[in-house]
Amino acid sequence: MLASEVGRRWSGQGRIRVALVFPNTYHVGMSNLGFQIIWQKFDGRDDVSCERVFASGDATEPRSLESGTPLRMFDVVAFSISFELDLSRIISLLNHAGIPLLGVDRDDGEPFIIAGGVVCAMNPEPLAPYADAIFIGEAEYVIDELFDLLARYTGGRRHRGVDTWRTGLLRALVSIPGIYVPRFYEPTYAPGGRLVELLVRGDAPARIERQVAGNLDAEKTASVVVTCETEFPDTYLIEIGRGCPHGCRFCLAGFVYRPFRKRSVQRLLEWIEGETLPCHRVGLIGAALSDFPDLDRLIVSLSESVKEVGISSLRADAIIPSLVTALTARGQRTLAIAPEAGSQRLRDVINKRLDEETIVRAAETAGNCGITRLRLYFMVGLPWEEDEDVLAVAPLVRAMRRTFFASNGKRITVSINPFVPKPQTPFQWHPMAPRDVLKRRLQLLERDLSSLGGVRILTKSVRLALLQGLVARGGRPVGEAIAIREVTALSWKRACARAGVDMEGELHRERRFDGLLPWDHIDVGVGRHFLWEEYRRAAQIAGRLVDGGPAPPG
Ligand code: SF4
Repeated sequence: MLASEVGRRWSGQGRIRVALVFPNTYHVGMSNLGFQIIWQKFDGRDDVSCERVFASGDATEPRSLESGTPLRMFDVVAFSISFELDLSRIISLLNHAGIPLLGVDRDDGEPFIIAGGVVCAMNPEPLAPYADAIFIGEAEYVIDELFDLLARYTGGRRHRGVDTWRTGLLRALVSIPGIYVPRFYEPTYAPGGRLVELLVRGDAPARIERQVAGNLDAEKTASVVVTCETEFPDTYLIEIGRGCPHGCRFCLAGFVYRPFRKRSVQRLLEWIEGETLPCHRVGLIGAALSDFPDLDRLIVSLSESVKEVGISSLRADAIIPSLVTALTARGQRTLAIAPEAGSQRLRDVINKRLDEETIVRAAETAGNCGITRLRLYFMVGLPWEEDEDVLAVAPLVRAMRRTFFASNGKRITVSINPFVPKPQTPFQWHPMAPRDVLKRRLQLLERDLSSLGGVRILTKSVRLALLQGLVARGGRPVGEAIAIREVTALSWKRACARAGVDMEGELHRERRFDGLLPWDHIDVGVGRHFLWEEYRRAAQIAGRLVDGGPAPPG
């Protein structure tokens, strides 16, 4: 792997030894721009030597990529988490490393465990018993404060069996904005797994505020390593903006990365053109590329040395000839569009403000301007979804296919995912759809779409989506169930029962506005009343507002 990398090299210097862990494979981890940036930030400090660790998936002791050092030998182990089910792999890594799983069981001879990533800002509670400290928000901006404290308290020394610095460090960390120290928060859960009380101890803040970067033009966020062994082989990734102004009600990115911020074209051009790129392909990254006002100007202005430009996805209403032509002139042949739902009614419920005409026209424009492959994203199990909404997907895909294949279109991939309600969004109170409903609706879609030539269907496992849903809105007992499962190899159901979690109940119960949620003490900057109002509005559009509140699906 190291031999294929072009770009940053490990410093190998620094007194504080840090393992930055991505709880998935090298391929997935190195495709994550945030992971690369954090590695650069950590290892860029004079007093830190940061090595990378990835999950191999086997039962061996985890070791660093750079020097092969066992995980337990590091002073600090930092996890980067972008997917709920990564928590299982984190516990597995700690277990195989021989590091005590629970934070309260670790003494000064053990590594200090920190974590960050979008899942932490969403709901860190299932992870809380295992981490000593958790970053909430854009961690780049608190790294120096954190390591200044680590350097002061640890002094680079570790003594097994004693507790000389760990307790002091934990107390000091609560004063850094955006750092959550779970052991100062004591939740009480009712049988079944519902949170009933949260006590905050000592000087810890009642709410932990997500940290947000102000001026993105002040700092570049771009690949520090380019390699052929990622999702984006031999591509220089650069972030052009953060957040999204659209507020689709199901979308975590639309809420936890607020506010919408963009970099200037001039600054981006300076960065891309100002250095010798290690490859000829540039990937533009951002949740709302469509809302970047001069995207076509940026692409056209890049010099000839950039042979290819790639982007992840565009909103259908931003697919206009000038932009698509600029992209195809730079080699892009695939576009992703996410209508999410087949019917207008359901798109209105989720606030995906796109009409059918716009979506079909986007496919036509894409084909006319040289795109040959479309990737379409839909969900099943959305709030107040009916079978008719699902049956509306096939006619929409058929209309897109007709117009797309009439020009350059050759293939359409339809990706269908079960909807997972996420914390910090208006649907955080909504029950997840039952297993049989999700399965039946996926089958309906597969039946309707499978006869369309040139259309490939990809569906996500219902079982995995339900587990993801459980962890997404779970509290500490769900984290305990994951650890029980890891250590005992029990089934999820039995591990949940042993941890006191009513798995079905937690997934499918309706949550009340005045009920406590495990992530209530995490302040991402979007108020509870605003989210509830959005939820009510969705219910109203669905015709399911009863006695002033959203009615459960039925
Ligand atoms: S437009 Fe895309 S990124 Fe923005 S809120 Fe909607 S789904 Fe999320």
